[in-house]
Amino acid sequence: MAEKVNIIGAGAAGVFLAVLLSQKGIASTVYDANVAAGRKFLVAGGGGLNITHSEPAESFIHKYTPAAFLKPAFDRYSNLTFMQWLEDLGFSLYTGSSGRVFPSKNDKPIALLNRLIQKAEAGGATFSFQHKLTQVAANGCILETPTGLKEIKGPIVYALGGASWRVTGSTGEWLSLFQSAGCETEDFAASNCQFLVDWPSSFLQAHEGKPLKNTRFSCGTYHTLGEAVITRNGIEGSGVYPLSPAIRHQLLSGKATLLLDLLPLVTSDELVQRLSRGEGPLSKRILSTTSLSRTQLALVKAFTSKEVFQHPTQVAQRIKQLPIIITSTGTIDDAISTTGGLALSEIDETFRLIRFNQAHAIGEMLAYDAPTGGYLLQSCFTMAATVAQQFYAT
Ligand SMILES: Cc1cc2nc3c(=O)[nH]c(=O)nc-3n(C[C@H](O)[C@H](O)[C@H](O)COP(=O)(O)OP(=O)(O)OC[C@H]3O[C@@H](n4cnc5c(N)ncnc54)[C@H](O)[C@@H]3O)c2cc1C
Repeated sequence: MAEKVNIIGAGAAGVFLAVLLSQKGIASTVYDANVAAGRKFLVAGGGGLNITHSEPAESFIHKYTPAAFLKPAFDRYSNLTFMQWLEDLGFSLYTGSSGRVFPSKNDKPIALLNRLIQKAEAGGATFSFQHKLTQVAANGCILETPTGLKEIKGPIVYALGGASWRVTGSTGEWLSLFQSAGCETEDFAASNCQFLVDWPSSFLQAHEGKPLKNTRFSCGTYHTLGEAVITRNGIEGSGVYPLSPAIRHQLLSGKATLLLDLLPLVTSDELVQRLSRGEGPLSKRILSTTSLSRTQLALVKAFTSKEVFQHPTQVAQRIKQLPIIITSTGTIDDAISTTGGLALSEIDETFRLIRFNQAHAIGEMLAYDAPTGGYLLQSCFTMAATVAQQFYAT
C-alpha cells in the first residue's frame, strides 16, 4: 500500500485525486493556500457546471493542444469512465443539445463539491488550508502555514492550477518556485478569453452586448460554429474560445484575423441569388431574404465601403467572409483559463515530474490548452485518475 500522498492544491484536480485515493483506502493530505477548496470549480459552476462533454473518445482527444501527452491517460480514463463514476456515486447527469454534460439541477456545484470532499474525508483524506507552497525541490517542498514553515517529504502531487481569476487562489505565483528548482516553464497566456477588436464607435454604441448567433468563426485553418458577444473592447463567447490557440499563434506576428461567415447554412451562390432579386436598397433585401440579424448587418456595414454595398455579389462575399482584426487577447485574470505553466517536457506520460523524486503535476498548471465545454475539467479528472492509478499499483 502506498504511503500517505501529499496533494498541493485543492482545486478540481486535487480534490478529485483525493476522492479516488480514498476509494482505494489510500490516505492523503490536501494542502491549499486558500481558506477553502475548489473556489475556481465553483466559479466555473456559476454559469451551469459544464463538467465534461459527451463527445466520442476518438475526437475528444483532439480538443487538446497539444493532444499527444494526454492520449495514454485518456485511453485509460475517458469522459465516459468519469461520467459512469459520477453516476455510480449517485450523481445524476444530463447532456445538453450541444453534447455538454452537466450535473442534474438538484446537484448544485457547491453540493457536488461538498459531497466529493466528504467522500474523500470518509476514506482518509484530510484538508489543510492556509498552507502555501513557498519552495519546491527534488526531494520535497516547503509550505508556509499559520504556525510556521512545514517541510513535506514523500509522494507529492502538485495541482496548483493556472493563473486566471486570482481571487479563487489560482495565482500562478508558483511558477517561479519551479523555475528556481531548475524546471522549464512557459509564460502564462490567456485562453478562452475576450479577444480585443477596435470596433468603430458608431457600431459599438448601438451593438455592445449583442450576440452574433449561428456564425461560423475561422482563424487560419481552424473553424467553429457557434455564438459570440460584441463587448466594449472586443469579442468573446463559445464560438471563438476554441480558436484561442490559433488566434494566439497569429498574434505573435502582431495581429490575428478572425473570419466570420454570418450565414453558414446558405451557400454563396444562393445568397447572391436572393440578394439579386427584388427592388430597393440591399440592406432591406438582406433583412427580408435572409436570417441576418440587425447586429450582423451593422457589423458587415461597419467594415464594408458604401460602394461595395451596391453589388449583391460583393456584399454576399462580405457576409460569407467578413474579416475582423484582433489586436490582442484580453487580460489573463479575466480569462476562463490559461495556457503556459510547467513545460510538458518536465513530465512523463503518467504526469511524473522527471527531475523530482516521487512527485507528479496535474491539471491546469501544465502548459497545454483546451476549450471550455467540459474539456478543461475533464482533463483535470483524467490526469488525476492516471496519477491515482500509480499509487494503487505500489
Ligand atoms: C469563469 C470560469 C468558467 C469556467 N467554466 C468551465 C467549464 O464550463 N468547463 C470546464 O471544463 N472548465 C471550466 N473552467 C475551467 C476550470 O474551472 C479549470 O480548468 C479547473 O478548475 C482547473 O482545475 P485545477 O485543479 O487544475 O486548478 P484550480 O481549480 O485552479 O485549483 C488550483 C488550487 O491550487 C491552489 N494554489 C495555487 N497556488 C498555491 C500555492 N502556492 N500553495 C498552495 N495552494 C496553491 C489554489 O488556491 C487552488 O485551490 C472555468 C473557469 C472559469 C474561471
